[in-house]
Amino acid sequence: MPVKRCICSICNKDVTKGSTLHIGDGKRACKFHPGVTEKSEQLAQLEAGRIKDQQERAKPKAPHPLYDRQNMFKPKCWRCGETGIYEQDWFGRMLINMEKHEITTGGPANPFTTRFAPAERCIYRLSKDVLNGKWDKIPRVSNQLIEISGIVCLCIDCMSNMKIDPPACKDMTAEKLIQFSGLYEVAMKPVIREMAAKELARDN
Ligand SMILES: [Zn+2]
Ligand SMILES: [Zn+2]
Repeated sequence: MPVKRCICSICNKDVTKGSTLHIGDGKRACKFHPGVTEKSEQLAQLEAGRIKDQQERAKPKAPHPLYDRQNMFKPKCWRCGETGIYEQDWFGRMLINMEKHEITTGGPANPFTTRFAPAERCIYRLSKDVLNGKWDKIPRVSNQLIEISGIVCLCIDCMSNMKIDPPACKDMTAEKLIQFSGLYEVAMKPVIREMAAKELARDN
């Protein structure tokens, strides 16, 4: 193989390529000219930095938890991205836990303890009106979702963080509570009890 040659851009002599260094703009120069080695090293550093930048940019960015394909269809908080279960399922789960307690102990379950609360995070579906003036607390990726749907899903932790009350607590009166418990006994309890009994039978 013939030795590759080139013209030095400083002395204009035809020299071996191996005796020269690249000094930018496709030009090469003999290594012994002053400043040539430094210039060449500088270029190499710049190039290395450019390649690193490019690699950084090419890296796939971690998606916002809201759009994580792994759990696209799990209920999620649109603020923090944590997954959980919707309020309806959450309360249903709590009622089943309480019924299980009643079946196994024969005594009534005290609803004012946390021991029947499901392990999953409770996620409320709320009208977007609750965000009144608190949009800055919501990540930008959620804004369009909220605008289109008119609702916002928030976990109970984010709600307390943003000082948003769960809707039921807002205007719950003693009368309503009594009304509801009457309704519960008649309409829901039999169903819930059946589910609780089935789960107990399955787990034992
Ligand atoms: Zn030269
Ligand atoms: Zn949250």
